[in-house]
Amino acid sequence: MSKRTPHSFPVELSVVIPLLNEAESLPELTAWIRRVLKEHGLSYEIILIDDGSTDNSWDVIEDIADTEPYVRGIRFNRNYGKSAALDTGFKAAQGRVVCTMDADLQDSPEELPELYRLITEEKYDLVSGWKKKRFDPLSKTIPTKLFNGVTRKLSGIQLHDFNCGLKAYDHRVVKSIEVYGEMHRYIPVIAKWAGFRRIGEKVVQHQERKYGTTKFGLERFVYGFLDLLSITFVSRFRQRPMHFFGTMGTLSFLLGAVITLWLVGEKLWLAAHDKAWLVAHGLRTRDVTDQPLFFLALVAVVVGVQLFLTGFLAEMVTLTGRKKNQYLVRDSIN
Ligand code: UDP
Ligand code: MG
Repeated sequence: MSKRTPHSFPVELSVVIPLLNEAESLPELTAWIRRVLKEHGLSYEIILIDDGSTDNSWDVIEDIADTEPYVRGIRFNRNYGKSAALDTGFKAAQGRVVCTMDADLQDSPEELPELYRLITEEKYDLVSGWKKKRFDPLSKTIPTKLFNGVTRKLSGIQLHDFNCGLKAYDHRVVKSIEVYGEMHRYIPVIAKWAGFRRIGEKVVQHQERKYGTTKFGLERFVYGFLDLLSITFVSRFRQRPMHFFGTMGTLSFLLGAVITLWLVGEKLWLAAHDKAWLVAHGLRTRDVTDQPLFFLALVAVVVGVQLFLTGFLAEMVTLTGRKKNQYLVRDSIN
């Protein structure tokens, strides 16, 4: 047992909610969360991140925060996307456990106490909701199945529903990961690669969208797939890009070098014999540049050198370490 006193938290649970034009849902959502968490005697904060709404979402948030001291708000200067909103919410969260949920009332606050228990008592690092019975159009549920299958295969994480907005995290997880671009679909993958291996799943209720419309179209699947490729690649080679580019470059260069040696060797060997002998054996001398293999060798050597240089550049970029998450916050309520 550790002798140190455990870190104390201002609240037990932080509920982080990214939102874009969800004004109608917010009063109902926050009242529902408050009712459920009060019933269970949990201390909490609700962090609403307005991701550049163009409706009156921020006014609504200000109104709610006036009467509800545990409601905090962060307002982006423009729309940065759900990942950016989540990342900012994670940085602001003070709870022992952090739960995320969508603002559209599709996720039910009734799930929060059980999610909290799974993290604190069952010691999960991350628990993802699983919308086993979905209330979404077929055009969304079928590609989603495919997406989840591919992600399971590539990441080795056995979740049914990676993109569920309802998730719970131990505070350590949200304080150590960075979510950017469209990476909110892969938070379990990011968490796993950061070393958080206790990843669980809980079947959750799902409702039809009550107000407003979905903020993501079908392009989500194209981007989602590309993001998965880059996240797999980056997580493997981020620290040492040279391991990837250097290996590929060396292989390509060696292939070119071997072919070149072969061509030169062949040329010398043929030159060592006289014409009559060559004719007798059905052979003839050719210029090196007359052979297709020569061009293959040329390309392989050039590509190899380029891959190597790319590796060097990537190493330098990782040294400089560009900051990815700089969002301009317009207002905030604490
Ligand atoms: N959202 C956001 N920024 C965006 C797009 C969406 O904060 O650029 C929020 C949105 O308001 C909602 C959640 O992300 O609270 C999930 O979005 P939505 O319900 O439209 O997605 P779907 O349920 O169709 O997957
Ligand atoms: Mg939704």
